[in-house]
Amino acid sequence: MAAVLPPEPTTLNAPASVVTSSAAAAAAKIAVILERHERDMTMIHHPEFRGHCESCNDAVLGSDGVSYKFDNLTRYYHQKCFRCHICTQSLRDGGEFFLHVGNPHCIACYQEKVLGCCDACGKVLMSQQGVLRARSKKFHPATCYVDMFVPNCGSCTKKILPDVEGQAVTTIDWKGKKYHAQCFGCVDCSKIFTDLKAYQIDGNLFCKNCHSIRTKKGTRVSVGSQQE
Ligand SMILES: [Zn+2]
Ligand SMILES: [Zn+2]
Ligand SMILES: [Zn+2]
Ligand SMILES: [Zn+2]
Ligand SMILES: [Zn+2]
Repeated sequence: MAAVLPPEPTTLNAPASVVTSSAAAAAAKIAVILERHERDMTMIHHPEFRGHCESCNDAVLGSDGVSYKFDNLTRYYHQKCFRCHICTQSLRDGGEFFLHVGNPHCIACYQEKVLGCCDACGKVLMSQQGVLRARSKKFHPATCYVDMFVPNCGSCTKKILPDVEGQAVTTIDWKGKKYHAQCFGCVDCSKIFTDLKAYQIDGNLFCKNCHSIRTKKGTRVSVGSQQE
């Protein structure tokens, strides 16, 4: 099923989401923690020591640092070393940055290179809108995904969308078409088919009664656009 996965914009020092990891990755992580710990111990008596820079490996001292948490570890950078992982543009000025696999990215690289493009319209996915991942593709959630995958009602032809509170709507699935529950009714008398007993003439739905009236007359009038 589809799930909306909004990418998480991260501001300085905000905790980043924790990624799940396999056993091998967990072992590798422990090795990294131990190695860091050993390295950090050599500096531990320095009053200004904060951690070792992820980029240049030198000690980060006092206020010359930027830090954030990723995967339960605090990552430190020198101000000058705090750069976009892809384009290396400086991120030191405290603006928004985005974490991907633990590495900081500027907004442009995050959108264009990490999020990539919508598989429906081909345009760049925006971090603020969120990304809808479904069928191993990714889409603009509110527009492109809806256009491609949300079915149209067989009666009113509008999209069958969740209501405003985000609750799932009752969709009637009938003979290969989908209908809003409130649209699944007789064209002539407006009776809603609560028992799924509907009769079709030229794609329009009728209750048993109205259907027999129409067919008895032998008219089989095509109804054209439906009346309310
Ligand atoms: Zn550094
Ligand atoms: Zn960048
Ligand atoms: Zn799109
Ligand atoms: Zn409808
Ligand atoms: Zn009827």
